[in-house]
Amino acid sequence: MKKVLIPITDLKRQYKLIEKELRRAEKQVFTSGIFILGEQLERFESEFADYLGVKYCIGVDSGTSALILALRALGIGKGDEVITPANSYIATSMSISHNQAVPVLVDCDEFYNIDISKIEEKISKRTKAILVVHLYGLPCQIEKIIMIAKKYKLFVVEDCAQAHGASFQGKKVGIFGDIGCYSFYPTKNLGCYGDGGAIVTSNRNIKNKIKLLRNYGQKKKYFHDILGFNNRLDELQAAYLRVKLKYLDEWNEKRRKIAKEYSRKLKDFVITPKELENAYHVYHQYVIRTKKRNELKSMLFGKRISTMIHYPKPIHLQTVYRNLGYRRGSFPNTEKYSGEILSLPIFPEMRDKEVEKVSAIINKIT
Ligand SMILES: *Cc1c(COP(=O)(O)O)cnc(C)c1O
Repeated sequence: MKKVLIPITDLKRQYKLIEKELRRAEKQVFTSGIFILGEQLERFESEFADYLGVKYCIGVDSGTSALILALRALGIGKGDEVITPANSYIATSMSISHNQAVPVLVDCDEFYNIDISKIEEKISKRTKAILVVHLYGLPCQIEKIIMIAKKYKLFVVEDCAQAHGASFQGKKVGIFGDIGCYSFYPTKNLGCYGDGGAIVTSNRNIKNKIKLLRNYGQKKKYFHDILGFNNRLDELQAAYLRVKLKYLDEWNEKRRKIAKEYSRKLKDFVITPKELENAYHVYHQYVIRTKKRNELKSMLFGKRISTMIHYPKPIHLQTVYRNLGYRRGSFPNTEKYSGEILSLPIFPEMRDKEVEKVSAIINKIT
């Protein structure tokens, strides 16, 4: 296969910029001789909590683990229902199913986030929580969701796996609801070098519960109070994350600049992402929409420009979720968009010339 000219994301360029710092951080871990539950993790947890403006952060081994443990800590289990968007990555719904609860899906709006006007009709006696997602880096109108949750006495969990550093009305996402969940999968806006994740909360009881759950239910070594797991974030990943956290704001600003440039150049040719006045979008993905999506994708591929579709098959149409009883037509927006969306290359180190090149090709085709 021909070499990619413009990748959708490129961690090699970023590595070159921070290699020395990563090596130094790594050396600290190796010389300490401690690789699990040590000083690096504690430091990262407090630095990330401070960054977000929340009391507690608990590092875990993936974003999916963060979601699973969050729901578990809230006591969500068999017979419970959790309201969540149909338009998300599969992990959001799977975290509900892994707790033996039922994901109750809601269609998305033109911002690609959960359509808030369709939440209340899905609330039943069994509903325990709303699990929202700030998809592609755009915060959803979280204050409206909190109001609905208060009215019906539901928990709110925020899936912030694509929204590190995003904020709503000046406050970082992840701190509005009862619990915020982050993923540090390598390509996320804040990523480590392997799998990683975090849970944030300002509730002490929830924090204590999650700390038990991630480490075999033990407060004291070899004394196990509850049924727990091994879901810890390791020292190396925590050390790498401490290096990268310092750059997060700068990197997000660069993503925003690229997005702005794309939108300026593309707005007359395709549907560009909508922004919300009170929200700070961090563009984990820059997603356009066009009826000629497949054609456009293959033309770009021919020019060695990689793109992706987030996501090509909605959750309710996946084989694993046949049992939920949805069908084609259940969520018109999610279904329509899945045939029209395309994620363009975007990463902080992307060059102006590359943005120009991608835009020029799209303008010619559409
Ligand atoms: C990446 C992602 C997850 C899962 O995170 P992992 O660290 O890969 O387990 C969950 N939800 C969303 C929206 C994501 O993008």
